[in-house]
Amino acid sequence: MAAPRNRIRIGDMLVQHNLISEEQLKEALEQQKKTRQKLGKTLLTMGFVDEKEFLSLLAQQLNIPLVDLSRYTFNKQDVAQLSETHARRFRAIVLKENTDRFTVGMADPMDIFAYDELQRLLPKPIDLAVVSENQLLESMDLLYRRTSDIESLADQLSEEISDGGFDLAELNATDEVDVPVVKLLKSLFEDAVQVGASDIHIEPDEHVLRIRQRIDGVLHEHVMKEKRIAPALVLRLKLMSKLNISEKRLPQDGRFNMMVKGQSVDVRISTLPIQYGESVVMRLLNQSAGVIGLDNAGLPDDMKARLRRLIREPHGIVLVTGPTGSGKTTTLYGALNELNTQERKIITVEDPVEYRLPRINQVQINSDIGLTFASVLRACLRQDPDVLLLGEIRDRETAEISLRAAMTGHFVLSTLHTNDAVSSAMRLVDIGVEGYLAASALRGVLAQRLIRKTCVHCKQPYQPSAQEAQWLKHRTEQLGIEMPVWQKGQGCTYCNNTGYKGRVGVFELLELNDEMADALRKDDSVGFTAAAKNDPNYKPLVYGALELAAQGVTTLDEVFRVTEQMDEAVLEEIATTSSEVKADVTEEAPKVVPDSGFSFELE
Ligand SMILES: [Zn+2]
Repeated sequence: MAAPRNRIRIGDMLVQHNLISEEQLKEALEQQKKTRQKLGKTLLTMGFVDEKEFLSLLAQQLNIPLVDLSRYTFNKQDVAQLSETHARRFRAIVLKENTDRFTVGMADPMDIFAYDELQRLLPKPIDLAVVSENQLLESMDLLYRRTSDIESLADQLSEEISDGGFDLAELNATDEVDVPVVKLLKSLFEDAVQVGASDIHIEPDEHVLRIRQRIDGVLHEHVMKEKRIAPALVLRLKLMSKLNISEKRLPQDGRFNMMVKGQSVDVRISTLPIQYGESVVMRLLNQSAGVIGLDNAGLPDDMKARLRRLIREPHGIVLVTGPTGSGKTTTLYGALNELNTQERKIITVEDPVEYRLPRINQVQINSDIGLTFASVLRACLRQDPDVLLLGEIRDRETAEISLRAAMTGHFVLSTLHTNDAVSSAMRLVDIGVEGYLAASALRGVLAQRLIRKTCVHCKQPYQPSAQEAQWLKHRTEQLGIEMPVWQKGQGCTYCNNTGYKGRVGVFELLELNDEMADALRKDDSVGFTAAAKNDPNYKPLVYGALELAAQGVTTLDEVFRVTEQMDEAVLEEIATTSSEVKADVTEEAPKVVPDSGFSFELE
């Protein structure tokens, strides 16, 4: 088929094939008059028709293939035949370049105007395929990276610098958007926002400039040969964040806000003098994305209900723990967001203030002028708060003030830098707080980690190694399940060849009961641990991770990674048990468990 000239009336077609009723069509046509969207889209948004059914019917009627982009392997060179601007404007993507034709995927293959434009832009005749709009947009974000823009701008900037054309006045002009250094930074930020990077690292090395982006917790490197552009980038970034541009020997930190692709992004920047210049690390906080509520944090329903009950207590303290980058801030903001009503006064003491929330009084620590956690906390208590959030309990002083506040009619949320919920309670005593104080104020501890999700586009069954199988045998027996089929991503365009895409939280929630409070009062850590293990509601985080792996959401590697952080002894257990059992693990073939009814039981 060459062109979709034979017009089809979508509405009639859908009614004819019983995908929608006459009434639904009428309703959708009414709606369409208001939104001015296409009928197909209107029907999809209104939920009258299933996208897959709709697309396959459309493909059938137009006699063109329906391509599932989630399983499609793109060739980047072919894709690049159509510029990003055109691809986005016409909702189209080049699927394949053949000797005499192109195959082009379109979200709306009946858009004749777009088809004509595409035919004009591409040097060979085109064959159409229909694709899902959401999949198309997702693919475009991944395929149209800023890599080549960044490279050519870096090259341009490098040339200017060698010509001596690089001057400070140019860098100073804040609204001058045409200079290469500004364009280069803009492309860098756009690329980072598009792929959802949390951090950008700019690191001058001896002969190259390394730009690394942290995506889903893992760094991805881009090496540039134009090493000499580094000082220009650093200088510009320092100006944007109002740092001292002449100071290159001392570390500095600051922040700035900017608009990237229509989104407001807060950038926290820090510099560090290293052997070949200054290293700059930027943390990107997308303010437009807003705060993720507790509903979307990944908490299992029962745990979410328990946490909600805990944070609605009129007084007491709830701690969220985990290492850096475990998603503690997200959970805390999610909790605050739920508590943020007219009736509650909420004050936060943070370093740094990560997200700005309406109605909440957020205080930024500044120890240079004596604005410390302890001094701000004391001042906050005179401000008649209902809820206090303390960024981190880091010493006895801040611990004591928070616990006392929690005992005198305030509800306090804070974090501790500990690995698990059980050790957190004892940690309070370790830093010098009286046991009775901790026992009376502490309501609960939520420990968490972020684990990477297996890429759904390239996941394949995974056969555990001998050691893994042995370790799993113990665990799955404890959980009372048969071995499921484990999954692992093989790497594809969608996941940047990592096999992982996105992250999900895993949690454990410990609620203090009388038995635990007694042990805490007596500074009895053995008794406390025993009491925690006796609590039927307390399930260690590792089991949550294992459950996700059994469902194919994550890999065993990720479970082991979390386990290692939680308890190094467990990995030793794998190493020691493996030698004894090598003989019988060969018959340990994983079996399919369609729906593993998990029950958690502790040893
Ligand atoms: Zn993949």
